[in-house]
Amino acid sequence: MRLFERDDDGYDEARRATVWNARVPDRYPDLVVQATTVEDVVAAVRYAADRGLRVGVRSGGHSWSANHVRDGGLLLDVSRLDSTRLDVAARTAVVGPGCQGSALVAELEAHDLFFPAGHCRGVAVGGYLLQGGYGWNSRALGPACESVLGLDVVLADGTLVHCSADEHPDLYWAARGSGPGFFAVVVAFHLRLHPRPAVCGSSVYVYPATCAAEVYTWAREIAADVDRRVEVQIVCSRGIPALGISEPSLVIASPVFADSEAEAREVLALLETCPVRDESLVAVPFAATTMPEWYDAVMSNYPSEHRYATDNMWTHAPAADLVPRLLDVIADLPPHPAHFLWLTWGPSPARQDMAYSLEDEVYLALYGAWKDESDDAAYADWSRSHMAAMADLATGVQLADENLGARPARFASDEAMARLDQVRAAYDPEGRFHSWMGRAS
Ligand SMILES: Cc1cc2nc3c(=O)[nH]c(=O)nc-3n(C[C@H](O)[C@H](O)[C@H](O)COP(=O)(O)OP(=O)(O)OC[C@H]3O[C@@H](n4cnc5c(N)ncnc54)[C@H](O)[C@@H]3O)c2cc1C
Repeated sequence: MRLFERDDDGYDEARRATVWNARVPDRYPDLVVQATTVEDVVAAVRYAADRGLRVGVRSGGHSWSANHVRDGGLLLDVSRLDSTRLDVAARTAVVGPGCQGSALVAELEAHDLFFPAGHCRGVAVGGYLLQGGYGWNSRALGPACESVLGLDVVLADGTLVHCSADEHPDLYWAARGSGPGFFAVVVAFHLRLHPRPAVCGSSVYVYPATCAAEVYTWAREIAADVDRRVEVQIVCSRGIPALGISEPSLVIASPVFADSEAEAREVLALLETCPVRDESLVAVPFAATTMPEWYDAVMSNYPSEHRYATDNMWTHAPAADLVPRLLDVIADLPPHPAHFLWLTWGPSPARQDMAYSLEDEVYLALYGAWKDESDDAAYADWSRSHMAAMADLATGVQLADENLGARPARFASDEAMARLDQVRAAYDPEGRFHSWMGRAS
């Protein structure tokens, strides 16, 4: 374990290292603790409890808002707890919170197993699973938190407990969907693994942004018919450097996971029905894809060492209401890699009983991304201001791309929000753990 107080050499390096976003906030905890074992975590939480310090927890540091970095208190970095233990026969795994989803997927591949890890390298399972987890094949397998069988957690008083459907069921309920509102430190996730799909592939279409009205209208109209093995993602940006395209464009990339190539082609055929299909700049109805290729493709939109500001919304608004508003957003798109994501998600099946309780047919997210601090004034509020302007069409937000400190919004059903507060009050009566930023209380 290493501990850095504010005046110590290495304090600011340790603080900054907890944030992937180059836009590290001007918030300063009293001390940063780097844990390497579960015992370190227990000791750190007891230390905080003895001194009345609040605790922020970091696993992979991919919270866009750097939710874990707060003024005062103890910042507990558990990224070094990144071990994996597989039981191939039982199709289960015990995984440390610092384990990166892409590394887990690679390890499982060798055993013909699969997990709905997030779409980007670097995202750790810690924050990802707590907030829900929208990963590869998640439309079919469910948000990744539905594959969490149990968790080992350190409570506010430093006690280590296991929670599952049978033990501490309220805590287990809260851990699946409360994200930055969780009130204990997860030191291990017990996961259900899935068989590796025989075929992993995608269709890819690129349309000029001049076709945006037709493409979004069509995407909204077919949303309910998209097979759940297909994830339709539409990324609009002011050019696609990876494809040598410099004009504003929409990329429709649709991962598919199927039992055979014929099945994959069949469920992707719907993507051929776009009314402006003839105007596509690129049209690939199906291509087999490896997971590393997928990660490379996605990461081209999320380069490191950039400054990011995100915001998002769920909606089921009809095309007539939605599309004019989307055109306003893309008319105001900053340069690449800033982008606007449309994800066809619902209508969803019934979910497990858990804090995760809010989703809708379409997910929209804005990713402001720029390199120079001097551009903060120009770009930092782009995502928030456009999502605020469309709030009348939103049913809530995802925690994955949360911006709650700047724009409070609901991320769970009203019933789940109320229960979350009750469970928190029982497990963390003194408020040892920071909750999400921007909460009213
Ligand atoms: C480039 C990029 C790509 C992304 N892609 C996806 C995606 O495809 N799908 C998706 O669903 N999300 C995605 N996200 C969002 C991401 O899943 C969330 O930001 C998630 O919280 C990151 O987890 P983390 O452990 O890396 O983050 P952290 O910043 O370490 O954690 C986020 C918050 O979770 C809580 N927390 C973290 N670890 C613990 C723990 N061990 N115990 C208790 N509380 C903890 C803390 O409140 C913390 O502030 C992406 C984010 C980025 C930056």
